[in-house]
Amino acid sequence: MNKNKRIAIIGAGPGGLTLACILQQAGYNPVIFEGETSPTQREQGGTLDLAEDMGQKALKVAGLLERFKEICRYEGEALKIMDKTATVMFESQENVNPKATTDSRPEIDRTVLRQMLLDSVTTESIKWGHNLLHATPLEEGQHELHFENGVTEVVDLVVGADGAFSKLRPLLSKETAEYSGVSMIEINILDAKNLFPDVVDLNGLGSAFTFGDSKAMLAQMNGDGKIRVYLSFKVPAEWLHNNGINYDKLEEAKPKLLKLFEDWSPELKKYIHYANGAIFPRRIYMLPVGHKWTHKKGVTLLGDAAHLMSPFAGAGANLAMLDAAELGLSIINHEDIDEAVLNYELKMFEYAGEIAAETKENMDLFFETNAAEKIKVLMESFHKEEN
Ligand SMILES: Cc1cc2nc3c(=O)[nH]c(=O)nc-3n(C[C@H](O)[C@H](O)[C@H](O)COP(=O)(O)OP(=O)(O)OC[C@H]3O[C@@H](n4cnc5c(N)ncnc54)[C@H](O)[C@@H]3O)c2cc1C
Repeated sequence: MNKNKRIAIIGAGPGGLTLACILQQAGYNPVIFEGETSPTQREQGGTLDLAEDMGQKALKVAGLLERFKEICRYEGEALKIMDKTATVMFESQENVNPKATTDSRPEIDRTVLRQMLLDSVTTESIKWGHNLLHATPLEEGQHELHFENGVTEVVDLVVGADGAFSKLRPLLSKETAEYSGVSMIEINILDAKNLFPDVVDLNGLGSAFTFGDSKAMLAQMNGDGKIRVYLSFKVPAEWLHNNGINYDKLEEAKPKLLKLFEDWSPELKKYIHYANGAIFPRRIYMLPVGHKWTHKKGVTLLGDAAHLMSPFAGAGANLAMLDAAELGLSIINHEDIDEAVLNYELKMFEYAGEIAAETKENMDLFFETNAAEKIKVLMESFHKEEN
């Protein structure tokens, strides 16, 4: 019986936690090994929109959909596309009503989502401060897990939910995460709602994405009133660290950031002028589109570990959670755990491959010189199809 199998999940991200929650509710005892020492060690990042057929579907399986609906932000779905003159090319406000219940992708801050998932699993099932170094295959599909803190564990199934640079992926695949060609500089406007109402007017309560000259300003209102902005560039990998920008000194960095958007509208440059929070350089990595592997007993991957892609379809966390639901249900519904994993992998390769291809197309489009005009046409055609 699968319930007696020792299942280890590496990583307490949205994927790993959703899987643990689903399995625990069905009477399994998976253990999550997380490298971070506590839930608060690292700031979890910005806002995520969860789609009905992905993130929300997984939350339904985990019994958390109603709770999500109470705390998500429907108004966060508002979307504005602008060009570099700050001319609005497309605007969607359908769900600005906070109680909207239409087919939707409401937003939730990553910290809030993680807390909801953490609250839904037993405290003793998460081993914080367990950074996996490697796993050694043993007989009969078992694996011996070696952690940086000296702990070793032997398990019947190990699930790599350990993100972009998964330590388990090399057991299944020769592929590694490669630089996508896009780098971002993340800046933050804390308490924008109170301090900078003019930029909130520009941005709206959701996302405001501006494209031009193979660059982008991708701004999103978060639940805590902060606007997080990803200044995005199609550049060689080394650019982030040889562009002369000091990421430790925001005020010194600002003139250099403004120079990168020299001929953009003064309205848009307010995102840089008003920045008053953390600044981070981020290289965007991806696995080859359609990444898959030959099934091996006792080990599998989900989420970014399986199909890391750029954020340009807002799909990564959604897919990680969907994978968790598919794998969890497959384990619950199959007598044989190995068949369950194989069944999940075949299904996941198909849907993740399609979304990875779509994400790559978006990324290529967003960094064309006249991207705003092309995105306007695309968004209008989607909108017509929906109505
Ligand atoms: C700038 C940006 C914006 C994004 N925006 C969106 C969006 O709007 N919508 C969306 O759906 N997705 C978005 N994504 C993608 C999303 O963040 C990821 O796809 C998602 O977090 C993947 O979830 P995961 O559970 O697979 O992995 P992760 O969230 O990466 O979690 C992995 C966990 O494993 C732990 N870990 C790693 N290595 C080890 C180890 N060796 N041992 C133990 N633990 C380990 C990590 O500490 C972490 O807790 C964005 C990504 C970026 C970079």
